[in-house]
Amino acid sequence: MKANAFRIAVMPGDGIGVEVIEAALAVLDAVETRFGLAISRDLIPAGAKHYAETGEALPEDSFRRAEQADAILFGAMGWPEIRYPDGTEIAPQLDLRFRLDLYAGVRPIRAIPGVPPVLNAPRSTEIDLVILRESTEGMFASRGKGVVTESEARDTQVITRRTTERLTDFACDLARRRKRERGTPGRVTLVDKANVFRSFAFMRQVFYEAARRHPDVEAGHHYVDAMALDLVRRPWDFDVLPMENLFGDILSDLGAGLIGGMGFAPSADVGDEHALFQPSHGSAPDIAGRGVANPTAMILSAGMMLDWLGARSGSEAARLGARAIERSVDLAFGQGRVRSYDAGGRDGTKEVAHVIAEAIRTGEANPA
Ligand code: ATP
Repeated sequence: MKANAFRIAVMPGDGIGVEVIEAALAVLDAVETRFGLAISRDLIPAGAKHYAETGEALPEDSFRRAEQADAILFGAMGWPEIRYPDGTEIAPQLDLRFRLDLYAGVRPIRAIPGVPPVLNAPRSTEIDLVILRESTEGMFASRGKGVVTESEARDTQVITRRTTERLTDFACDLARRRKRERGTPGRVTLVDKANVFRSFAFMRQVFYEAARRHPDVEAGHHYVDAMALDLVRRPWDFDVLPMENLFGDILSDLGAGLIGGMGFAPSADVGDEHALFQPSHGSAPDIAGRGVANPTAMILSAGMMLDWLGARSGSEAARLGARAIERSVDLAFGQGRVRSYDAGGRDGTKEVAHVIAEAIRTGEANPA
């Protein structure tokens, strides 16, 4: 990686993935110009439509190119009518998580100013937490391996010491950094079901052992069922929430619901060597092709990519670009300059991206 120069793999995929990627690239154009970055883009084919056309969802060449890039910007993949012969969905994102060892699924749930609150509670504007979904094991380790007979079916969950330790370190580092930069409490809460399953009791034990290495971070736990309740009742009380893969899959949708829907929820899948950035939503076949998808989640994910690239390479320009993206999103919605369809407005994908890009281009969204 040269200072301020990055090579990214761009994988638009299916449905609104294609539309929101285009929007995010327009915003990245503005960031490049404003902050003096050079971001070269390798457009990589993969996904359900690609499978229907070629018989391959993630060709080996596509995988290699994604692996060689500095980071992967990913739209969405999958389409209801296009499936593998065994009936399962086309989901190259899951293959990428496993093959690139992207164990930390970072899903920030932050109330964006101006987006109509979902909860009828004054404190809902304070929501600022991160669901940290372990993404390489848990229940998903059984994907494609479940055993089905005439009379029963079994999928087996896997929790390892190594990944639980890595996830805990990641969660504590994230909580510490958020505390420094955003004034959040520096608290990590493991979400589990340790009262019923041995695998979760093991996970909790390893979590507390690893958390001892981070005495400046407050470590606690919460049962997943209670967390589902409390995320609706008092989400503003939580900070960083590491959890098993399937729990994270479910609670991150709940979290997105709290801040206005999937169109506002970015995500990053991070490993020790690679990282992939995509919105929390899927290809949304119900609205695809109409230009009405909200690109904010994708744009914020591109911001997370710049932040990660900046941290890895030492590029201050990339980190400033990341902060400008978040600021610009807040300005666009907070000042009522745009209102996307999913927030009850009439601004389509391109309009939302244009307004966000413009505040970056003019310098209005420069970090203070
Ligand atoms: P997956 O299983 O791949 O996560 P899904 O089909 O369960 O996908 P999504 O594609 O995320 O779910 O869509 C869920 C709902 O949210 C749909 O009604 C969709 O239209 C809506 N939605 C998702 N993303 C957006 C967006 N960016 N803008 C507006 N609406 C969205």
